[in-house]
Amino acid sequence: MNRVFIKTYGCQMNERDSEEVASSLIERGYSLVENEKEADIVLLNTCSVREQAESKAIGKAGHVLSKKKKDKKFILGIMGCMAQNKGADLLKSLPKLSLIAGTQKFHHIPDYLDTLTKQDSNNKLPIIDLDEEANSQSHIKNHLDSSSKTVSAFVSIMQGCNMNCSFCIVPKTRGNERYRAMDEIVAEVEALARNGVKEVTLLGQIVNAYGRGEFARIDNKSPFVQLLDKLHAIDDIKRIRFTSPHPVAFGDDLIAAFTRLNKLGSHAHIPVQSGSDRILKSMNRPYTRSKFIDLVKKLRASNPEMRLSTDVIVGYPGEEEEDFEATKDLFVEAGFEMAFIFKYSERSGTPAAELSDQVPQHVKEKRNQELLHLLEQQSTVSNEKLVGSDLEVLVEGKARKGEGNLIGRTPCFRKVIFLGPDKLISNIVTVRIARISPNTLFGDLIT
Ligand code: SF4
Repeated sequence: MNRVFIKTYGCQMNERDSEEVASSLIERGYSLVENEKEADIVLLNTCSVREQAESKAIGKAGHVLSKKKKDKKFILGIMGCMAQNKGADLLKSLPKLSLIAGTQKFHHIPDYLDTLTKQDSNNKLPIIDLDEEANSQSHIKNHLDSSSKTVSAFVSIMQGCNMNCSFCIVPKTRGNERYRAMDEIVAEVEALARNGVKEVTLLGQIVNAYGRGEFARIDNKSPFVQLLDKLHAIDDIKRIRFTSPHPVAFGDDLIAAFTRLNKLGSHAHIPVQSGSDRILKSMNRPYTRSKFIDLVKKLRASNPEMRLSTDVIVGYPGEEEEDFEATKDLFVEAGFEMAFIFKYSERSGTPAAELSDQVPQHVKEKRNQELLHLLEQQSTVSNEKLVGSDLEVLVEGKARKGEGNLIGRTPCFRKVIFLGPDKLISNIVTVRIARISPNTLFGDLIT
């Protein structure tokens, strides 16, 4: 009665939270299995960003319960954002659910499962815990052993968000910003480095706001930049990335860090969401298009090799053709080469869902396609300039296609595929670029 299968929906933060739960369960004597058929306990770590993500997880939970209906001892738990968002309401559609644990409760899951596994199977009572808990952010710190064999690791540095963008459910599901202590994060990354990790990605819903209002600025550096400095000093960590930042927390100290700290590489992801001031205002995004372009210019000045990506929403309520044109123009002016494009979907519980002027689906689809096409063009032009150049590549593993092919990333976060021996995995090598596609570089190993 201790085989657990964890299924994760949604973002990298959820992946990281699931890893923490998995690691704490192993420590408690539970074992992880690869699929739900073999499991005595199934945990769904859920996402609430879109209504569809919630429906998918509820559908999955119903399916799992029906497959396991003869197993009276079987335990199904729902944790994470949807658990927090829907709470006990989940029992209406899933009466056999045993556990509903919110986003500040991941570290209690082993205790809750211990309790549930001891219950009389004919008289099971669900456990529901959605309360806020001081310092819960500090518990997301353990990694699975398998992480020590990988090149990259996620490190959660904060939880929650105070921004209240009108389309976003995160402030409701994750609560206010709470930051981990800097020393604890540094200790975690040092331990990862000792286990062979070469690259860390710092995670937070508004990651560059880390520590604001709580930790002091020192030498005119924000707490986030102080943290970057400390992590940069760890020898065996070769690359540091972070996601997702907010444009308003992208101060001059962080821009300067891209010149000073070479482990940051030459890629920045800056979610813009729209290129129209009118729509940005409606989204409650506290910057203008021209402020955003200023930021892009400063970043490009700090590092001319800088490659930029973004998040954008098309078809936000009230988005007219001219608003979308402003977004397209901004994509050209900023020179974005990658983007996560979201077709706006109504998210109940958010202010934007109350807006009346929803954009028809076919218009969202058309705008999505136009932006994808533009990105492909810009990325192709930029990649073509790299043909013939020698680039440093951190080798992440074997490529999915092509015998003997390895895959890695450049400092500007481009994917590179090349032929090479497995022993190079987790090393930094030099690859001469021979040809390109819009999203990938192909080259030959030099050293
Ligand atoms: S900053 Fe990001 S996480 Fe915070 S409310 Fe806005 S979109 Fe959501």
